[in-house]
Amino acid sequence: MSERLALKTGAQKPATSKPPAPKLSDDRGKGRALGCAFCRRPITTTAAAIQVSGSHEYTFVNPDNDVFRIGCFADASGLKKYGPSTLEYTWFPGYAWQVELCGGCRNQLGWFYRSKDHGFHGLILDNLVEIEENE
Ligand SMILES: [Zn+2]
Repeated sequence: MSERLALKTGAQKPATSKPPAPKLSDDRGKGRALGCAFCRRPITTTAAAIQVSGSHEYTFVNPDNDVFRIGCFADASGLKKYGPSTLEYTWFPGYAWQVELCGGCRNQLGWFYRSKDHGFHGLILDNLVEIEENE
């Protein structure tokens, strides 16, 4: 196994230069497809973007001083949950988080947050790119 996963609130940084993050504020409805920035596997759509506690987008710093810009999404297919769900250092009070990897290339794309009665995906916006639906 050669994975280098940080399993707390950390994540490995992409080794490549970062593509511009997709804009999420327009073109709702069907939305545009968003895929993994590493392998372009379809992950979610702009239509699945939601607000959590009044905002879609958050910037967080983890205990390793890595900065993450994440967006909240109601649905995201193409992800694989990894490791335990925990409340430790959670960014959203009351929500336990669990690492989510790309189901294709297994780079970390974000976290799944769940409370007693709600769940959403907090995805690292710099690790998502717009893709064509039929790509
Ligand atoms: Zn991928």
